[in-house]
Amino acid sequence: MVKVLGIIGGGQLGSLLSSAAKKLNIKTVIFSDDPDAPGKQFADEFIFGNYDDQEKIDLFTNGVDVVTFEFENIPHKTLKIIETKKKVLPKPGINKIVQNRLTEKDFVNKCNIRTTTYVGVKNQKELRSNVNLIPGILKTSTLGYDGKGQYKINDIKELEKLNIDFSKKYILEKAVKLKKEISVIVTRFGHQKYEIYEPIENYHEDQILKNSKIPADISEKITSQSIDQATIIAEELDYIGTLCVEYFIDKNDNLYLNEIAPRVHNSGHLTINSHNISQFENHVRAVCGLEKIKVKKLFNASMINLIGHEISSYRKKNYNDNEFFFDYLKKEIKEKRKMGHLTTIK
Ligand code: ADP
Ligand code: MG
Repeated sequence: MVKVLGIIGGGQLGSLLSSAAKKLNIKTVIFSDDPDAPGKQFADEFIFGNYDDQEKIDLFTNGVDVVTFEFENIPHKTLKIIETKKKVLPKPGINKIVQNRLTEKDFVNKCNIRTTTYVGVKNQKELRSNVNLIPGILKTSTLGYDGKGQYKINDIKELEKLNIDFSKKYILEKAVKLKKEISVIVTRFGHQKYEIYEPIENYHEDQILKNSKIPADISEKITSQSIDQATIIAEELDYIGTLCVEYFIDKNDNLYLNEIAPRVHNSGHLTINSHNISQFENHVRAVCGLEKIKVKKLFNASMINLIGHEISSYRKKNYNDNEFFFDYLKKEIKEKRKMGHLTTIK
Protein backbone atom coordinates (compact mmCIF):
# COMPACT_ATOMS: atom_id res chain seq x y z
CA MET A 1 0.00 0.00 0.00
CA VAL A 2 1.22 3.46 -0.89
CA LYS A 3 1.68 5.64 2.17
CA VAL A 4 3.94 8.34 0.74
CA LEU A 5 3.64 9.83 -2.73
CA GLY A 6 6.63 11.63 -4.24
CA ILE A 7 5.84 14.55 -6.53
CA ILE A 8 8.45 16.18 -8.75
CA GLY A 9 7.67 19.86 -9.18
CA GLY A 10 6.31 22.29 -6.64
CA GLY A 11 4.03 24.63 -8.57
CA GLN A 12 0.27 24.90 -8.14
CA LEU A 13 -0.30 21.49 -9.73
CA GLY A 14 1.99 19.86 -7.16
CA SER A 15 0.24 21.79 -4.40
CA LEU A 16 -3.23 20.72 -5.53
CA LEU A 17 -2.04 17.11 -5.88
CA SER A 18 -0.73 17.28 -2.30
CA SER A 19 -4.06 18.57 -1.02
CA ALA A 20 -5.90 15.77 -2.82
CA ALA A 21 -3.52 13.15 -1.40
CA LYS A 22 -4.01 14.50 2.11
CA LYS A 23 -7.75 13.85 1.77
CA LEU A 24 -6.90 10.21 1.01
CA ASN A 25 -4.51 9.96 3.97
CA ILE A 26 -1.49 9.77 1.71
CA LYS A 27 1.53 11.85 2.66
CA THR A 28 3.41 13.78 -0.02
CA VAL A 29 7.03 14.73 -0.56
CA ILE A 30 7.64 17.44 -3.14
CA PHE A 31 11.00 17.66 -4.89
CA SER A 32 11.58 21.01 -6.56
CA ASP A 33 14.48 22.99 -8.02
CA ASP A 34 12.89 26.20 -6.73
CA PRO A 35 13.60 26.87 -3.04
CA ASP A 36 10.48 29.05 -2.86
CA ALA A 37 8.15 26.66 -4.68
CA PRO A 38 4.60 27.19 -3.39
CA GLY A 39 4.20 23.42 -3.02
CA LYS A 40 6.37 23.72 0.08
CA GLN A 41 3.31 25.03 1.94
CA PHE A 42 1.07 22.14 0.89
CA ALA A 43 3.27 19.03 0.99
CA ASP A 44 4.18 17.11 4.15
CA GLU A 45 7.83 17.31 3.20
CA PHE A 46 9.76 19.47 0.78
CA ILE A 47 13.13 18.75 -0.82
CA PHE A 48 14.93 21.51 -2.66
CA GLY A 49 17.57 20.50 -5.18
CA ASN A 50 18.53 20.52 -8.82
CA TYR A 51 16.95 17.70 -10.77
CA ASP A 52 20.40 16.26 -11.54
CA ASP A 53 21.62 16.36 -7.94
CA GLN A 54 22.22 12.66 -7.21
CA GLU A 55 22.16 13.12 -3.43
CA LYS A 56 18.82 14.91 -3.50
CA ILE A 57 17.40 12.39 -5.96
CA ASP A 58 18.38 9.60 -3.54
CA LEU A 59 16.97 11.42 -0.53
CA PHE A 60 13.68 11.93 -2.38
CA THR A 61 13.48 8.42 -3.81
CA ASN A 62 14.24 6.70 -0.51
CA GLY A 63 11.52 8.60 1.31
CA VAL A 64 8.59 7.73 -0.94
CA ASP A 65 6.66 4.66 -2.16
CA VAL A 66 5.80 5.84 -5.67
CA VAL A 67 6.76 8.87 -7.76
CA THR A 68 4.76 11.11 -10.05
CA PHE A 69 5.29 14.60 -11.47
CA GLU A 70 3.45 17.83 -12.10
CA PHE A 71 5.21 18.90 -15.30
CA GLU A 72 6.57 17.07 -18.32
CA ASN A 73 9.96 18.73 -18.70
CA ILE A 74 11.87 16.83 -16.05
CA PRO A 75 15.21 15.56 -17.38
CA HIS A 76 14.57 12.05 -18.66
CA LYS A 77 17.75 10.86 -16.94
CA THR A 78 16.40 11.88 -13.52
CA LEU A 79 13.24 9.83 -14.02
CA LYS A 80 15.27 6.84 -15.23
CA ILE A 81 17.47 6.99 -12.10
CA ILE A 82 14.44 7.14 -9.83
CA GLU A 83 12.82 4.30 -11.76
CA THR A 84 15.62 1.91 -10.80
CA LYS A 85 14.37 2.09 -7.21
CA LYS A 86 10.74 3.18 -7.24
CA LYS A 87 7.81 3.05 -9.59
CA VAL A 88 7.40 6.26 -11.63
CA LEU A 89 3.89 6.87 -12.96
CA PRO A 90 3.07 7.80 -15.66
CA LYS A 91 6.03 5.95 -17.22
CA PRO A 92 9.06 8.13 -18.09
CA GLY A 93 9.05 6.94 -21.72
CA ILE A 94 5.80 8.86 -22.19
CA ASN A 95 7.47 12.11 -21.22
CA LYS A 96 10.10 11.57 -23.83
CA ILE A 97 7.47 11.51 -26.57
CA VAL A 98 5.45 14.42 -25.24
CA GLN A 99 8.36 16.69 -24.21
CA ASN A 100 9.08 17.39 -27.85
CA ARG A 101 6.30 18.93 -29.95
CA LEU A 102 7.56 17.15 -33.08
CA THR A 103 7.67 13.61 -31.67
CA GLU A 104 4.37 14.35 -29.92
CA LYS A 105 2.61 15.31 -33.15
CA ASP A 106 4.21 12.40 -35.05
CA PHE A 107 2.86 10.06 -32.37
CA VAL A 108 -0.64 11.56 -32.60
CA ASN A 109 -0.71 11.19 -36.37
CA LYS A 110 0.50 7.59 -36.05
CA CYS A 111 -2.64 7.00 -33.95
CA ASN A 112 -4.63 8.31 -36.97
CA ILE A 113 -5.64 11.42 -35.09
CA ARG A 114 -5.58 14.72 -36.91
CA THR A 115 -3.30 17.60 -35.94
CA THR A 116 -2.65 20.82 -37.78
CA THR A 117 0.00 20.62 -40.53
CA TYR A 118 3.51 21.08 -39.14
CA VAL A 119 7.18 20.78 -39.96
CA GLY A 120 10.44 20.73 -38.01
CA VAL A 121 12.56 23.83 -38.66
CA LYS A 122 16.29 24.06 -37.89
CA ASN A 123 17.33 27.24 -39.68
CA GLN A 124 16.19 30.36 -41.51
CA LYS A 125 16.32 28.62 -44.90
CA GLU A 126 13.98 25.86 -43.77
CA LEU A 127 11.67 28.44 -42.25
CA ARG A 128 11.48 30.37 -45.52
CA SER A 129 10.87 27.25 -47.57
CA ASN A 130 7.66 26.55 -45.65
CA VAL A 131 5.61 29.59 -46.56
CA ASN A 132 2.66 27.27 -47.23
CA LEU A 133 2.30 27.00 -43.42
CA ILE A 134 1.88 30.79 -43.03
CA PRO A 135 -0.13 32.14 -41.24
CA GLY A 136 1.47 29.92 -38.69
CA ILE A 137 3.03 29.66 -35.30
CA LEU A 138 6.69 28.94 -34.77
CA LYS A 139 7.30 27.18 -31.45
CA THR A 140 10.39 25.87 -29.75
CA SER A 141 10.20 22.06 -30.00
CA THR A 142 10.89 21.66 -26.31
CA LEU A 143 10.38 23.47 -23.01
CA GLY A 144 7.56 25.82 -24.04
CA TYR A 145 4.54 26.51 -21.87
CA ASP A 146 1.90 29.24 -21.56
CA GLY A 147 2.88 30.47 -25.01
CA LYS A 148 6.55 30.90 -24.04
CA GLY A 149 8.89 30.36 -26.98
CA GLN A 150 6.14 30.98 -29.56
CA TYR A 151 6.06 33.42 -32.49
CA LYS A 152 2.89 34.10 -34.40
CA ILE A 153 3.74 34.72 -38.08
CA ASN A 154 0.85 36.34 -39.92
CA ASP A 155 2.40 36.88 -43.34
CA ILE A 156 5.58 36.51 -45.34
CA LYS A 157 6.77 40.02 -44.48
CA GLU A 158 6.69 39.11 -40.79
CA LEU A 159 8.54 35.91 -41.54
CA GLU A 160 11.36 37.82 -43.25
CA LYS A 161 11.66 40.22 -40.32
CA LEU A 162 11.86 37.55 -37.64
CA ASN A 163 15.15 37.16 -35.88
CA ILE A 164 15.10 33.65 -34.48
CA ASP A 165 17.70 32.08 -32.22
CA PHE A 166 18.38 28.90 -34.14
CA SER A 167 20.56 27.37 -31.43
CA LYS A 168 17.18 25.86 -30.46
CA LYS A 169 15.03 23.62 -32.64
CA TYR A 170 11.58 24.68 -33.76
CA ILE A 171 8.33 23.40 -35.12
CA LEU A 172 6.27 25.50 -37.52
CA GLU A 173 2.54 24.86 -37.28
CA LYS A 174 -0.11 26.11 -39.63
CA ALA A 175 -2.49 28.37 -37.68
CA VAL A 176 -5.91 26.83 -37.22
CA LYS A 177 -8.77 29.30 -37.72
CA LEU A 178 -10.09 28.80 -34.26
CA LYS A 179 -13.74 28.63 -33.40
CA LYS A 180 -13.09 27.17 -29.98
CA GLU A 181 -10.61 25.30 -27.87
CA ILE A 182 -11.52 22.38 -25.66
CA SER A 183 -9.73 19.83 -23.52
CA VAL A 184 -10.57 16.35 -22.35
CA ILE A 185 -9.23 15.03 -19.08
CA VAL A 186 -9.02 11.30 -18.62
CA THR A 187 -7.65 9.24 -15.75
CA ARG A 188 -6.50 5.79 -16.74
CA PHE A 189 -6.17 3.11 -14.06
CA GLY A 190 -5.13 0.22 -16.32
CA HIS A 191 -6.07 -1.58 -19.51
CA GLN A 192 -9.44 -0.19 -20.66
CA LYS A 193 -10.05 1.24 -17.18
CA TYR A 194 -10.84 4.92 -17.38
CA GLU A 195 -12.63 7.78 -15.74
CA ILE A 196 -13.34 10.61 -18.16
CA TYR A 197 -14.59 14.13 -17.58
CA GLU A 198 -16.81 15.80 -20.13
CA PRO A 199 -15.01 18.15 -22.55
CA ILE A 200 -14.06 21.51 -21.05
CA GLU A 201 -14.26 24.68 -23.10
CA ASN A 202 -11.17 26.87 -22.81
CA TYR A 203 -10.51 30.45 -23.68
CA HIS A 204 -6.92 31.69 -24.01
CA GLU A 205 -5.57 35.23 -23.90
CA ASP A 206 -2.02 35.81 -25.17
CA GLN A 207 -1.68 32.01 -25.39
CA ILE A 208 -2.36 31.67 -21.66
CA LEU A 209 -5.48 29.92 -20.41
CA LYS A 210 -7.87 32.53 -19.04
CA ASN A 211 -11.23 30.76 -18.63
CA SER A 212 -12.55 27.22 -18.59
CA LYS A 213 -16.15 26.05 -18.34
CA ILE A 214 -18.42 23.04 -18.43
CA PRO A 215 -20.51 22.21 -20.27
CA ALA A 216 -18.57 23.12 -23.40
CA ASP A 217 -20.74 24.62 -26.09
CA ILE A 218 -19.94 21.98 -28.75
CA SER A 219 -21.78 19.41 -30.87
CA GLU A 220 -22.39 15.84 -29.76
CA LYS A 221 -20.13 14.69 -32.58
CA ILE A 222 -17.19 16.77 -31.32
CA THR A 223 -17.92 15.60 -27.77
CA SER A 224 -17.68 11.93 -28.67
CA GLN A 225 -14.78 12.40 -31.09
CA SER A 226 -12.69 14.25 -28.50
CA ILE A 227 -13.44 11.70 -25.78
CA ASP A 228 -12.63 8.81 -28.12
CA GLN A 229 -9.35 10.36 -29.17
CA ALA A 230 -8.27 11.09 -25.60
CA THR A 231 -9.00 7.46 -24.72
CA ILE A 232 -6.98 6.19 -27.69
CA ILE A 233 -4.02 8.38 -26.67
CA ALA A 234 -4.14 7.18 -23.05
CA GLU A 235 -4.39 3.54 -24.14
CA GLU A 236 -1.61 3.83 -26.75
CA LEU A 237 0.70 5.40 -24.16
CA ASP A 238 -0.24 2.73 -21.60
CA TYR A 239 -0.78 5.71 -19.35
CA ILE A 240 -1.45 5.53 -15.62
CA GLY A 241 -2.84 8.65 -13.99
CA THR A 242 -4.55 11.82 -15.19
CA LEU A 243 -3.85 13.06 -18.70
CA CYS A 244 -5.16 16.08 -20.54
CA VAL A 245 -5.63 16.36 -24.28
CA GLU A 246 -6.03 19.86 -25.74
CA TYR A 247 -7.92 20.37 -28.99
CA PHE A 248 -8.67 23.05 -31.54
CA ILE A 249 -12.04 23.26 -33.29
CA ASP A 250 -11.96 25.24 -36.54
CA LYS A 251 -14.69 27.32 -38.15
CA ASN A 252 -15.90 24.25 -40.09
CA ASP A 253 -16.21 22.15 -36.97
CA ASN A 254 -13.11 20.06 -37.62
CA LEU A 255 -11.32 18.74 -34.58
CA TYR A 256 -7.51 18.90 -34.32
CA LEU A 257 -5.50 17.55 -31.45
CA ASN A 258 -3.24 20.37 -30.22
CA GLU A 259 -1.19 18.84 -27.45
CA ILE A 260 -1.03 16.18 -24.77
CA ALA A 261 -0.26 17.09 -21.18
CA PRO A 262 0.91 13.96 -19.31
CA ARG A 263 -0.30 15.33 -16.01
CA VAL A 264 -3.13 17.13 -14.29
CA HIS A 265 -4.04 20.30 -16.17
CA ASN A 266 -5.10 23.87 -15.52
CA SER A 267 -8.36 23.39 -17.45
CA GLY A 268 -9.32 20.67 -14.96
CA HIS A 269 -9.11 22.84 -11.84
CA LEU A 270 -12.87 23.25 -11.91
CA THR A 271 -13.30 19.50 -11.30
CA ILE A 272 -12.35 20.15 -7.64
CA ASN A 273 -15.73 21.80 -7.16
CA SER A 274 -17.85 20.45 -10.04
CA HIS A 275 -17.32 16.71 -9.54
CA ASN A 276 -17.43 14.08 -6.82
CA ILE A 277 -13.78 13.24 -7.59
CA SER A 278 -11.36 15.88 -8.91
CA GLN A 279 -8.69 15.34 -11.56
CA PHE A 280 -6.14 15.56 -8.73
CA GLU A 281 -7.78 12.94 -6.53
CA ASN A 282 -8.17 10.69 -9.55
CA HIS A 283 -4.49 11.05 -10.38
CA VAL A 284 -3.50 10.16 -6.84
CA ARG A 285 -5.91 7.22 -6.88
CA ALA A 286 -4.53 5.88 -10.15
CA VAL A 287 -0.81 6.21 -9.36
CA CYS A 288 -1.23 4.90 -5.81
CA GLY A 289 -3.32 1.93 -6.93
CA LEU A 290 -6.46 2.98 -5.06
CA GLU A 291 -10.02 2.18 -6.04
CA LYS A 292 -11.48 3.68 -9.21
CA ILE A 293 -14.71 5.47 -8.40
CA LYS A 294 -17.14 6.55 -11.08
CA VAL A 295 -16.91 10.30 -11.67
CA LYS A 296 -20.14 12.22 -11.41
CA LYS A 297 -20.75 15.83 -12.25
CA LEU A 298 -22.39 17.62 -9.35
CA PHE A 299 -22.50 21.10 -10.85
CA ASN A 300 -21.77 23.00 -14.01
CA ALA A 301 -18.86 25.30 -13.41
CA SER A 302 -16.57 27.98 -14.76
CA MET A 303 -13.06 28.86 -13.75
CA ILE A 304 -11.06 32.03 -14.19
CA ASN A 305 -7.29 32.12 -13.90
CA LEU A 306 -5.93 34.97 -11.83
CA ILE A 307 -2.80 36.12 -13.60
CA GLY A 308 -0.15 38.49 -12.27
CA HIS A 309 -1.46 41.42 -10.23
CA GLU A 310 -5.09 40.35 -10.67
CA ILE A 311 -4.60 38.23 -7.56
CA SER A 312 -4.30 41.26 -5.23
CA SER A 313 -7.92 42.39 -5.40
CA TYR A 314 -9.20 38.79 -5.22
CA ARG A 315 -7.30 38.30 -1.97
CA LYS A 316 -9.44 41.02 -0.42
CA LYS A 317 -12.84 39.92 -1.72
CA ASN A 318 -15.65 38.16 0.10
CA TYR A 319 -17.03 35.12 -1.67
CA ASN A 320 -20.46 33.58 -2.06
CA ASP A 321 -21.12 29.92 -1.23
CA ASN A 322 -20.87 28.94 -4.89
CA GLU A 323 -17.48 30.62 -5.39
CA PHE A 324 -14.18 28.95 -4.56
CA PHE A 325 -11.03 31.06 -4.48
CA PHE A 326 -7.64 29.35 -4.66
CA ASP A 327 -4.49 31.28 -3.83
CA TYR A 328 -1.33 29.42 -4.90
CA LEU A 329 0.61 31.40 -2.27
CA LYS A 330 3.43 32.24 -4.67
CA LYS A 331 6.11 34.36 -3.07
CA GLU A 332 6.28 36.94 -5.80
CA ILE A 333 3.66 38.40 -8.10
CA LYS A 334 4.96 38.41 -11.66
CA GLU A 335 3.32 39.50 -14.87
CA LYS A 336 1.83 36.53 -16.77
CA ARG A 337 2.36 34.24 -13.79
CA LYS A 338 -0.62 32.13 -12.72
CA MET A 339 -1.22 33.26 -9.14
CA GLY A 340 -4.54 31.65 -8.31
CA HIS A 341 -7.97 30.80 -9.69
CA LEU A 342 -11.62 31.24 -8.93
CA THR A 343 -14.19 28.55 -9.66
CA THR A 344 -17.90 29.32 -9.68
CA ILE A 345 -20.41 26.48 -9.60
CA LYS A 346 -23.83 26.92 -11.12
P1 ADP B 1 1.56 25.73 -24.62
O1 ADP B 1 2.48 24.58 -24.43
O2 ADP B 1 2.19 27.03 -24.33
O3 ADP B 1 0.20 25.51 -23.97
P2 ADP B 1 0.10 25.47 -27.14
O4 ADP B 1 0.67 24.82 -28.34
O5 ADP B 1 -1.02 24.79 -26.46
O6 ADP B 1 1.34 25.77 -26.19
O7 ADP B 1 -0.32 26.95 -27.56
C1 ADP B 1 -0.93 27.84 -26.65
C2 ADP B 1 -2.14 28.50 -27.31
O8 ADP B 1 -1.75 29.22 -28.50
C3 ADP B 1 -3.19 27.51 -27.80
O9 ADP B 1 -4.03 27.09 -26.75
C4 ADP B 1 -3.89 28.37 -28.86
O10 ADP B 1 -4.75 29.32 -28.27
C5 ADP B 1 -2.74 29.09 -29.52
N1 ADP B 1 -2.20 28.25 -30.63
C6 ADP B 1 -1.12 27.45 -30.57
N2 ADP B 1 -0.91 26.79 -31.73
C7 ADP B 1 -1.89 27.16 -32.56
C8 ADP B 1 -2.24 26.81 -33.92
N3 ADP B 1 -1.50 25.95 -34.64
N4 ADP B 1 -3.34 27.39 -34.46
C9 ADP B 1 -4.09 28.27 -33.73
N5 ADP B 1 -3.82 28.64 -32.46
C10 ADP B 1 -2.73 28.11 -31.86
MG1 MG C 1 -1.36 24.26 -24.47
